Amino acid sequence: SETSVSEVARWFAEAEAAVVLTGAGISTESGIPDFRGPQGVWTKNPAAQFMFTYDNYVAEPEIRRKAWAARLASPVWTAEPNAGHRALVDYERTGRLRAVLTQNIDGLHQAAGSAANRVVELHGTAREVVCLSCGDRNPMPEVLPRIEAGEDDPACLECGGILKSATISFGQSLEPDVIEAAVAATRGADLFAAVGTSLGVYPAAGLCDYAVARGIRLVIVNAEPTPYDEDADAVLREPIGEVLPRLVAGA
Ligand code: NAD
Repeated sequence: SETSVSEVARWFAEAEAAVVLTGAGISTESGIPDFRGPQGVWTKNPAAQFMFTYDNYVAEPEIRRKAWAARLASPVWTAEPNAGHRALVDYERTGRLRAVLTQNIDGLHQAAGSAANRVVELHGTAREVVCLSCGDRNPMPEVLPRIEAGEDDPACLECGGILKSATISFGQSLEPDVIEAAVAATRGADLFAAVGTSLGVYPAAGLCDYAVARGIRLVIVNAEPTPYDEDADAVLREPIGEVLPRLVAGA
């Protein structure tokens, strides 16, 4: 659409219950590659998706070894929040931001200062580890040193079960209470902004359908086209770290 940044900034300033859905694109400026962008992990190596499929992870020790090696080498552990994450913290302080619904697993919204109870992690978090047998949950920093020390497929210290990062892989369902929190936040929102997401993964992308069906103003901030662009009241194809601070500046 032809709607300008300044007009969308006015919508942000008027909103009383805004909801922002974020995707991997808000963290690329922190050095974490997205999946489907031009420099994306899957764009460069489509086979990487195999590793993120739940049944493969459970069935094949070799997949787990690769997944743990990739986890140890992940840029997430050293990444710092960027201007996009910080803009949402500033926006939260105005009292107009009801929730950040994130598909990201990197924890950078909380690292930037977003209140933990306003961030809904739709796809879980890479900062925790869960046992697939007994459900024991622990901080990732308790497991990564074991990988560094040479364990390539660490087992649960409670029961010997398979450990996995507390993230949602393909073939895994989202946590019901997490979906419910996302829908509850969107219900009654007066602005829904999708930022840095290709809107190709469900049910996260379906939140846009929900917003449109309820007549909530929809804004998309993404470098590339998305399937929801034609439903949106405004589409801004600009670098997130530049445009988000402008969008919240007047709020
Ligand atoms: P995606 O890779 O499918 O889409 C990201 C979109 O962001 C792309 O369309 C890209 O053009 C856009 N983009 C990238 N950098 C941008 C920038 N600086 N300014 C504007 N636009 C930018 O990501 P998705 O929709 O979030 O889906 C990917 C899935 O992968 C999610 O489920 C998520 O859990 C996971 N993932 C998470 C991380 C993370 O936690 N940081 C990283 C990669 C993938």
